[in-house]
Amino acid sequence: NTPAIGSPARTQAILNRYHLSAKKSLGQNFLTDLNTLVGIVDAAEITTDDNVIEIGPGIGSLTEQIAKRANKVVAFEIDRNLLPVLNETLAPYDNVKIINEDILKANLPEVIKNEFGDGRPVKVVANLPYYITTPIILSLLKGPVDFSKIVVMMQKEVADRLGAKIGVKAYSSLSVIVQYLHRVTVPMMVSRKSFIPSPNVDSAIVVLSDYDHRDAVAYNDKAFMGFVRGCFAHRRKTLWNNLQGIFGKQPDVKSQIQNGLDDAGIQPSVRPEQLTVADFVNLANTFHEIGL
Ligand code: SAM
Repeated sequence: NTPAIGSPARTQAILNRYHLSAKKSLGQNFLTDLNTLVGIVDAAEITTDDNVIEIGPGIGSLTEQIAKRANKVVAFEIDRNLLPVLNETLAPYDNVKIINEDILKANLPEVIKNEFGDGRPVKVVANLPYYITTPIILSLLKGPVDFSKIVVMMQKEVADRLGAKIGVKAYSSLSVIVQYLHRVTVPMMVSRKSFIPSPNVDSAIVVLSDYDHRDAVAYNDKAFMGFVRGCFAHRRKTLWNNLQGIFGKQPDVKSQIQNGLDDAGIQPSVRPEQLTVADFVNLANTFHEIGL
C-alpha cells in the first residue's frame, strides 16, 4: 500500500530522489495535505462521468486524486523536468495523459476532441501556479470551451477578488467578469503550511459553476469583458474618465458617451466600483446599440 503522492513523506522522498528543487519562477509549491487534495476533488464533484483538464500537475499529487474518480485526466505541465517524475508517480493510473505545454498556449478544443471526444462534461481542476492565476482564469473564461465546473486553488487575495460583492475593497473588474459568467463559491481556505515549499501567502479553493440563470446578458461576452476591464482601468477616476479612455476624447464621441449614460440612467460621476454586474451589462449593451 503506497502512500498518496501528496503525503508529506512521499513528496519529500520524490523530490530527493529526482534532486528536484521547486522552481519559484514557475510557481512550484507542492501540496502536501491530503485533506486539501481531497477537498479540491470533492468541491469539483468528480465522478466517472467527468473528463478533467488539470493545469500544472507538478509531481502528480492532485492528478492522482482526480484519476481515482474521473473518467480521464489530461494534465498540462510546462516543466519538462517533471515528465519523468510524473511518468513514475502516475504509472498505476491508465486514465491520465500528461501534455508538456504551457496552458496559455494550448489549443483546448483540439485537445478535448482528441483526448476525450465523447461528449462528457469537461471540468478544470488545478492548484494554479500563482504568478499567472489571473491570465489563466481569464483565458479559461474567454476561451471557446464551456467547462461544466472550474475548481482552482489560488492565493487568498485573488480568491477574495473573484468572490467580492459590490461595496467591498476587493471588488474589481475580475469580480464583475467572473460573476457575470459564473456562480462563485469559496468552500475552503488553505494554510501556506500545506505546501512544500511554503508560499508567502495563504490560499483558497474557488469553485466557478455554470451560471445558467443570469439576469442580464451582454450582446457579446468577450467584448463585455474588455469593456469592464476598460471601465476599471483607473479605479480612482470617474466612469466618465474611464469611458473616454475606452472610446476616445473627441467631442462627438464625448456626446455619444453622454447620450449612452443618459439612456442607461447612470451618472458620469460614479466610480466603476459603484456599479453592479447588471449595471455594466446594461451600459455595455446601451453603448453597443448607439454604435459606440
Ligand atoms: N498540482 C501540483 C500540486 O498541487 O502539488 C503542483 C501545483 S504548483 C502550485 C503549479 C504547477 O504548475 C507547477 O508544477 C508548475 O511547473 C506548473 N506550471 C507553471 N506554469 C505553467 C504553465 N504556464 N502551464 C502549465 N503548467 C504550468
